[in-house]
Amino acid sequence: MRLVNRRFYYEVLDKNRKKNKMIKLYNSKSNKVEEFKPIVENKVNMYVCGPTVYNHAHIGNARPVIVFDTLRRLFESCGYDVKYASNFTDVDDKIINKAQEENVSESVISQRYIDAYSKLRDELNTLPLYATPKVTQVMDKIISFINSLVESGNAYESQGDVYFSVTSIDNYGVLSKQKIEDLLVGARIDENTKKVNPSDFTLWKKTEKGLKWDSPWSTGRPGWHTECVVMIKDVFADMIDIHGGGMDLRFPHHDNEIAQSCAFQKHELANFWMHNAMINIDGEKMSKSLGNVRWAKDIVDLLGTNVVRWLMLGTHYRSELNFSDETIETAKKELSKVETALKLGQVKLAISRYKLDDEINEDYDKFISEMSNDLNTANAYAQIFDSVKKINSLIRANDDDLTSLKVYINSVIKMLDVLGISVKNICLNDEEILMYEQWVAYKKAKDFDNADKLRNILVEKGVL
Ligand SMILES: [Zn+2]
Repeated sequence: MRLVNRRFYYEVLDKNRKKNKMIKLYNSKSNKVEEFKPIVENKVNMYVCGPTVYNHAHIGNARPVIVFDTLRRLFESCGYDVKYASNFTDVDDKIINKAQEENVSESVISQRYIDAYSKLRDELNTLPLYATPKVTQVMDKIISFINSLVESGNAYESQGDVYFSVTSIDNYGVLSKQKIEDLLVGARIDENTKKVNPSDFTLWKKTEKGLKWDSPWSTGRPGWHTECVVMIKDVFADMIDIHGGGMDLRFPHHDNEIAQSCAFQKHELANFWMHNAMINIDGEKMSKSLGNVRWAKDIVDLLGTNVVRWLMLGTHYRSELNFSDETIETAKKELSKVETALKLGQVKLAISRYKLDDEINEDYDKFISEMSNDLNTANAYAQIFDSVKKINSLIRANDDDLTSLKVYINSVIKMLDVLGISVKNICLNDEEILMYEQWVAYKKAKDFDNADKLRNILVEKGVL
């Protein structure tokens, strides 16, 4: 049995199927589902905040990886050309602390976890990114960006630190709808006497410890909120279509990114803001203190890529996802139902020397319509099950309608491809086909000894 990469199917998707599909997405800025309109026709520029590389990614970190890869696949299946960038934050206190604990340089730590994260992305079957900028690569640009904000009066230096003045723009908190006055209530005024306003945030931090760079204000390092803005500007130059990340980044991180962009470029950085909800473990929040942190790499080892993606996408991306034995079992069962139907259907085609091609039907279009409605995966999964039901009845049918069977199989394989789930493409060679026919003949003749022997061989070969 030969395994064939399914990716090429995208390229040969019927052009009419790819064009003019309306995609609606929930915009965290308007709190509404809106029709997606690209800045440049047929193009999508997308940035998703990447990891701070001081440890392995837990399954909560894997959720945006899968969600935004699926969104990208959806756009591509609708004919868009997607440029998707995601950064590595390789300057951070946590990296510095870990480097000092292990008595190695910061770059040893960050490279170790960049490699681990890249490996995880591959294991999760994500498509290659357009750009993966690192903070250390754009330090000159970060310093000159902060300098511009100081010169324009949007930021100020205080004892070697630089802060962004939240009152210097008139729409601070536009994303999370927080008002500066409300933020002040409850803020500890004595927390940082270097700030004019307690809500002002750090653009540059003076420090003697660990990684540091010279700047006009002090030897130090930049603040996290500035890093992402500069990397987005560096990769895309101008306003982007979609900025994504976990819900926990909405405030302050993304509001602070917007504030700087508004001050610097007089626009809000991105047209669409998308946030995925968090993951719970057995109904509880995942946290170090509860001791229930699950590493994504271990979960992929345990369950395999397809089950992890099916499980992660089975809950709508804006709802909290519960990770438990029960949800894992459900995902395994559901996916196995789909995979079994595809396998048996393909074997039936192969025995008749009927080859898969590119023809798909309206079931695929219905699936895309559901996915295009803010990634309505619940309805999209229902469509898959509906098509699988048709495959199963075509497998059982006595009057062989192999053309319909083939088209349904093609359609489901392409639906799964949008979800990043790869299916084994079964091609049987002549010897395997003969064996299969012999097995059927033994069964008919009630020669169960020989039938069982052949069955074992066929199972070993992955035919049965
Ligand atoms: Zn970011």
